[in-house]
Amino acid sequence: MFEHITASEIAGFGVGGLLLAATVYAPKIDSFISISQRSSLGMCKRCGDLRLIACSSCKGTGTIKGGPFSSILLEDKSKVGSSSCTKCRARGHFQCPECSNLSQA
Ligand SMILES: [Zn+2]
Ligand SMILES: [Zn+2]
Repeated sequence: MFEHITASEIAGFGVGGLLLAATVYAPKIDSFISISQRSSLGMCKRCGDLRLIACSSCKGTGTIKGGPFSSILLEDKSKVGSSSCTKCRARGHFQCPECSNLSQA
C-alpha cells in the first residue's frame, strides 16, 4: 500500500510524525502535569525533557508546502510545491533553549 510513497517521504513521515506526536502530546502532558509539577519532577518546563521543540511553521516536517490549500492537497504532493522551512532550517525542530542553556547532560 506504500508503493506510491518514496523513501524520502517515508523518512519525512517518520521524523515528522515523531515530532508531531510530541507536539500533539505536549498539551495532554500539560493537562496532567502542571509546569510547577514538572520543575519539581526535574522535567524541562519548555519541552518536558524532550529536548526538542517541534517547529510550528512546518509542523516538524522541515518543509513548507506551497499554496493556500496545502492541507487539502497534502495527499497530492506532485501538485504542491514544497520548500525547505526557513524558520527551523529544514530540521523540523529546534533545540530546546532551556535544555541547551543548562547543557548538563
Ligand atoms: Zn527543554
Ligand atoms: Zn520548520
